[in-house]
Amino acid sequence: MSHDTAPASAANFIRNLIDEQNAAGKWNGRVETRFPPEPNGYLHLGHAKSIFLNFGLARDYGGVCHLRFDDTNPEKESQEYVDAITESVKWLGFDWGEHLYFASNYFDTMYACAEYLIQAGHAYVESLSADEMRNYRGTLTEPGKDSPHRSRSVEENLAMFRSMRAGEYPDGAHVLRAKINMASPNINLRDPAIYRIKRAHHHNTGDKWCIYPMYTYAHPIEDAIEHITHSICTLEFEDQRPFYDWLLNKLAEGDFFPRPLPQQVEFARLNLTYVVLSKRKLIQLVDEKHVSGWDDPRLPTLVGARRRGYTAEGLKRFADQIGVSKSDGWIDYSVFEACQRDGLNDTALRRIAVLDPIKLIIDNYPEGQSEECFAPNHPQQPELGKRMVPLSKELWIEREDFEETPPKGYFRLFPGNSVRLRYGYVITCTGCDKDADGIIAAVHCDYLPDTKSGTPGSDLVKVKGNIHWVSAAHAYEAEARLYDRLFTTAQPGGESGDFIKDLNPDSVRTIRAQLEPALIDANAEDHFQFERHGYFVADSVDSKAGAPVFNRTVTLKDSWGKAEK
Ligand code: ATP
Ligand code: MG
Repeated sequence: MSHDTAPASAANFIRNLIDEQNAAGKWNGRVETRFPPEPNGYLHLGHAKSIFLNFGLARDYGGVCHLRFDDTNPEKESQEYVDAITESVKWLGFDWGEHLYFASNYFDTMYACAEYLIQAGHAYVESLSADEMRNYRGTLTEPGKDSPHRSRSVEENLAMFRSMRAGEYPDGAHVLRAKINMASPNINLRDPAIYRIKRAHHHNTGDKWCIYPMYTYAHPIEDAIEHITHSICTLEFEDQRPFYDWLLNKLAEGDFFPRPLPQQVEFARLNLTYVVLSKRKLIQLVDEKHVSGWDDPRLPTLVGARRRGYTAEGLKRFADQIGVSKSDGWIDYSVFEACQRDGLNDTALRRIAVLDPIKLIIDNYPEGQSEECFAPNHPQQPELGKRMVPLSKELWIEREDFEETPPKGYFRLFPGNSVRLRYGYVITCTGCDKDADGIIAAVHCDYLPDTKSGTPGSDLVKVKGNIHWVSAAHAYEAEARLYDRLFTTAQPGGESGDFIKDLNPDSVRTIRAQLEPALIDANAEDHFQFERHGYFVADSVDSKAGAPVFNRTVTLKDSWGKAEK
């Protein structure tokens, strides 16, 4: 699926800013954004918000959006994550063309920038321990103090920084710091660390480096190297913006980068109830085996969402609906589900599945006979045609569709009551069989031969109930997984932060369902609406040719057993 023809998204403060800047001629109409994941985990629904925003702006303004792996931290990054992230961005329908970048390819430039900062008197080598540095930093209410190393000469700083790079000091012995202002009210400007010594193998640069740039130093340089116009990030980076601007200004003075310099713009991150959207927490769920893997259909990862049967189109609807703002808030998971339903309602073919089967025997139907009934593939799209569903003497129906003693307002099967077998005949219930324990083993009925759906006069007999069924002789049994929310609380972990204790012990139920014959040909990732039950997808991992396994994506809003209009 491609979003190239999608309508332009609704106005938001970032679009307004771009429009104003375009009117003032700031960038000559250029819009260059980037999506910069760190390859230390899989993407989640929060990242999707950022992807739709960044790629969406580029699309709507005729610009480009870069896919940049922000891989400056060697310890937690891997190729597995790079591949999964690439795949997920494509799945959402976006194409970065030639604009695929790895921040680690800029290490040489970042190093050169650091030497320049030292030479220009804007950086120095710090030799205090981490604890000592913390003591010198001050607090939110008290200014920091200058380190005794702050006054090192340019020559000494340069020599020491080169020795850091040459591997002459142990890990952690020194750091390079920006020289800004230890008394700044913004703690982020109190001489932040910009390089550290760390002997770690990097997935791209191998063992070439034993010093690595800090994220807050590396990111602005990455943006400037790529001529990014708008560096869009989440609100928690707002306090970092003064450092972002300070750094790029100093480097522009040193002719490293032309003006106008990239502009950092913050927006509110997605917080979604009943899930966790933090890589650290997702990694914990996977590592501690609370879920089956990164693509567990209960996880809010994009690979999990895809396997669950959520669609990229539904994610786009969601992103459009929630919009982009500057204030943090929580979005209810039901909003996400409603967007998925709306998308699936348009595209998913209708099929029949009995999830909790009990036999229905039509006593007056001839033994050994079967006949063809026809069911529309999509009630609102007749052009999608119909498929044949066979009917015979013994059917599977839902256990819930029979009550020996009906509660008030129950219109489905009970002795003496008539209902329509959807796409088939009107039947009248005559009773049931029970096993030795008193459990109902089969339901009996008679059918009214002149009432077959689609034949003249079939609707003369009026009934209130309408139930679905599959022919026992023709159905096939398959595994289906019924998913529920992974957490029992809207904000897992709440105040205490212990989100593991909020896991829902019943987040998945695996059942054996009876399915109509047409479903046997389902291919992995085919979406269906199982009538009255919800949207299901053929699982991409466990389905085999001729033996699909189904995941329930989301239930229907529809209430059970409503009479056919
Ligand atoms: P962590 O969870 O470890 O803090 P992260 O989610 O910030 O990591 P990155 O790989 O740095 O992971 O994220 C890539 C981009 O996705 C960033 O630009 C970030 O702003 C954006 N992003 C991450 N989480 C969300 C979210 N919940 N809502 C919107 N954007 C997000
Ligand atoms: Mg991050």
